Amino acid sequence: MRVTMIGAGYVGLVSGACFADFGHVVTCVDKDPAKIAALEKGDIPIYEPGLADLVANNVQAGRLFFATGQTEAVRSADVVFIAVGTPSRRGDGHADLSYVHQAAREIAEAMDGYTVVVTKSTVPVGTGDAVEAIIREVRPDADFAVVSNPEFLREGAAITDFKRPDRIVVGTEDERAGEVMRALYRPLYLNQSPLIITNRRTAELIKYAANAFLATKITFINEIADLCEKVGANVQEVARGIGLDNRIGSKFLHAGPGYGGSCFPKDTLALVKIAQDADSPVRIVETVAAVNEVRKRAMGRKVIAACGGSVSGKTVAVLGLTFKPNTDDMREAPSIAIIRALQDAGASIRAYDPEGIEQAKTVLDDVAYADNVYTAIEGADALVIITEWDAFRALDLDRVRALLKTPVVVDLRNIYPPQDLLVRGFTYVSVGRPEEL
Ligand code: NAD
Repeated sequence: MRVTMIGAGYVGLVSGACFADFGHVVTCVDKDPAKIAALEKGDIPIYEPGLADLVANNVQAGRLFFATGQTEAVRSADVVFIAVGTPSRRGDGHADLSYVHQAAREIAEAMDGYTVVVTKSTVPVGTGDAVEAIIREVRPDADFAVVSNPEFLREGAAITDFKRPDRIVVGTEDERAGEVMRALYRPLYLNQSPLIITNRRTAELIKYAANAFLATKITFINEIADLCEKVGANVQEVARGIGLDNRIGSKFLHAGPGYGGSCFPKDTLALVKIAQDADSPVRIVETVAAVNEVRKRAMGRKVIAACGGSVSGKTVAVLGLTFKPNTDDMREAPSIAIIRALQDAGASIRAYDPEGIEQAKTVLDDVAYADNVYTAIEGADALVIITEWDAFRALDLDRVRALLKTPVVVDLRNIYPPQDLLVRGFTYVSVGRPEEL
């Protein structure tokens, strides 16, 4: 099959490369010429484990192509995916659909013969209807169907998630389009990934409901962690104790500094807006978004408290900036609010992240970047672990103790057993766990 991806970002590039790997012929189109120029040179514009090899192999096999313009790629395609961004609209939290609508217009101008147009971007309920109306308006003669096919991959594990998804959701009531989607995904459901077909609006809502549920789980355990600190309980043991119940499940029960990233913050807000407009508010999700929002800066206050109530004039070493490990993505990363809170309180920040520094430079001001863990720590008044990269899980604690000016460690991801630090004389603060031996 011939597949075209509009948008070669985290989702479009990974999905495009994976479809090519299944044997389809794929063109990834992006209007950012720098991105396409990099891809054509063999450079991958984002950090995603395994992606460079996957792209190189499929380019070499003659199945994966890149373009800045849609015309040729769309004309020859059986299936065109819209995988452009849907950020929060400035001011009100609704999803900004301008990129989706623009992509729909451009597809309409170029399409030729029966074409299945698939929205892979996360979009509010009813967007498929709007995309269909735009295409119909631009090209009243066009032969096409608009399908919803939300994407559930996680950055950092995107290729495995795409190739072995828990499920594939396809929203269409058009039989012919349903057959095309089944043929496209056949390599996956041969692998026993269930493909569920729903109506288009249901598929659109499944994606928001899934992300809102996961965000709720994280926020729930974060509040339980705060309660643990007040009553002398251990949140990791509480999480294990509830997570072993199959009805609850152990995933997404890790207490931390609050969720961030390119999806949960904007998708929870968008769902809140969709529900308010439908006069059917989702109060739990409203609360989750509000609780998470204040949590990130509160983590800055936690660091200040661990430093004896003031960080004025002090240097705080930060390990981990990206919103989670194994990505360079800084969108809505908790590190941003935490670092700003510390800077507002007079601290200087020295930070290290294995992949995120270039992106961090575009969102954070006045941060000194170190080129490894130990240069970040040297001479600092405190160490804060914000993102749980593997490289931070087995630090040489004696060396850390020797390098820090004062032995204060705030571990916002609970990656160390408290006793390992307490026996070495650190002041050690984590999330929802007892801090004394
Ligand atoms: P991204 O910002 O990394 O990539 C979007 C790309 O689309 C950009 O490179 C941009 O230049 C390009 N673009 C915009 N308009 C275009 C047009 N008219 N023609 C060609 N290219 C155009 O975004 P992303 O993280 O890949 O997310 C894309 C969508 O997928 C969003 O709706 C997001 O919510 C959803 N999603 C993201 C993830 C994730 O982990 N990042 C997971 C599941 C779903």
